[in-house]
Parts: sequence; C-alpha cells; structure tokens
Amino acid sequence: MIERFSYSSLETFKKCPAKFKFYYIDKIVKPDDSIEAFMGKRVHETLEFLYQEVAKKKIPIIDTVLEKYRELWEKSWHNRIAIFRWREFGSENYFALGEGCLARYYRLYKPFSEPVTGIEFELVFNLDDSDGYVMKGILDRVDHTGDGIWEIHDYKSGKRALTQKQADSDLQLALYQIGLQQLENNVESVILVWHFLQHGLEVRSTRTENQLNSLISKTKKTIDQIQGQIASGGEFAPKESFLCNWCYYWEECPAKTGTNPYIFKK
Ligand code: SF4
Repeated sequence: MIERFSYSSLETFKKCPAKFKFYYIDKIVKPDDSIEAFMGKRVHETLEFLYQEVAKKKIPIIDTVLEKYRELWEKSWHNRIAIFRWREFGSENYFALGEGCLARYYRLYKPFSEPVTGIEFELVFNLDDSDGYVMKGILDRVDHTGDGIWEIHDYKSGKRALTQKQADSDLQLALYQIGLQQLENNVESVILVWHFLQHGLEVRSTRTENQLNSLISKTKKTIDQIQGQIASGGEFAPKESFLCNWCYYWEECPAKTGTNPYIFKK
C-alpha cells in the first residue's frame, strides 16, 4: 500500500498506470532529467535564493541573481539530461530561457515586498478524518498578511500558460488549499496564483467550498482505485500517448521495445 500521495503521483496514475507503478510502487528511479525540468528546478532554486536574501533585508541586484542561477546550473549539470528538441535548441538556449524568466520576474516584482511566510513550504495533510488519504505537497511560495487572507504561489517556467478558465479548474493548487486550510489557523480566504515566467504573466483564481469538497471526493476515489489495485494484485496497464516521448521507462514498459529514441543526451 502507498502511505502518502501527491498531486504528481495521482496525475501520473491518470496518464499512465504503468509509469505510476514503475516509479511509485517498484521505486525504479531513473537518473534522467529533461532539460525543461532541469531549467525549471534551477529557476525555482534561484527564486528561493532571492526571497531568502529579501528575508534578510538584502535585495540582491539582478546580476547577483543571474550569477546565482549560473552557479546552480553549472553545479547541478549532469550527463543524463535529455534534450528532446536538440535539432532546434541546445542547452545554451534553455539556459537563456531561464535567465529571461528570472530577469522578467525581477523587473515585475522588485522590491519584492510581498508578505512571504513560506518558500518551498511543505504540507502533509489528510483528505478526511481517517488516516487513509494522506497527501503531501511542496508549495513554491505562501504569502499571508496576518489578516486571514492567504495566497498560494506557483512558478511555471514552461512555454504554456493557463487561461483563466483552465486556472479556475486546475487541481494542484486547489489540493494545496485544502492542506493549508487544515494546517493553518486564521484562514479566511485563499487566493491561488500562478506565475508564467516565460510570459511575465500572473493568473489568479479562487475555489468555493463545494468545489473543494468535490475535489476531495474525486481524489479519494482515485486513491481507492490505486490502493484496491495494489491489494488485489491488479494490472497497472500501460497507456500510450504522446507523453511516451518524454518517458524514461521504455526498457520496463511492456508496450515498448528498446530505449526511448526521442531522448538525445548531451
Ligand atoms: S512508455 Fe508510454 S506507455 Fe510505457 S510507461 Fe511510459 S508513458 Fe506509459
């Protein structure tokens, strides 16, 4: 049985049960990273650095922020980073994309006076009073001015930005809202905020109590399905889609042969 679920584990199960099994049940961890994920992690770490400095009452200049980004990039670089669009785009283009994300964010939000109460804020919470539905999540940033109005912030470094309609039905931050309301006192309202860093765009949304309750029951159903399949030794079938191009489990997957030919490592 699985003790704790996360938004990403549940999404992986919905997209491909076989991939879910390889990673979350069989615990086959691959050392691979896509260049997009690698760049996103370095951008997140750099923003974490920025707000840590701001918390110490020091606003770093943009050059210091970008130097930190370069340092983190070079320190973390490894030889299992896959560049899927290598014919058009090399690692230097992705590095520059990340720099652009940070420079844009810096210009828009300096002097960073947001009421930040947590960066990389870890939540472990239950979907009901039993211990059967434990969820965990890490929030990029949480703001609270002390008046009961909280904001959950999420940084996205990918190309695609959510429309307002998509943000209004997004599940990830809504799940985090459920956790925040359970663990913190003085939560009057919660605003969900996405930062689409390649576009310099901020999208905001809120959820009603009914929407949160419906999300709780849908999530519990998915968890029941997974735990039921594990208990009965049921099959976690492969579900092929365009996402297979970004999957590192071709060697394990019964639907594939050989290694993923779309992964070009540099
Ligand atoms: S290759 Fe495709 S079908 Fe196989 S595990 Fe990966 S995502 Fe699933």
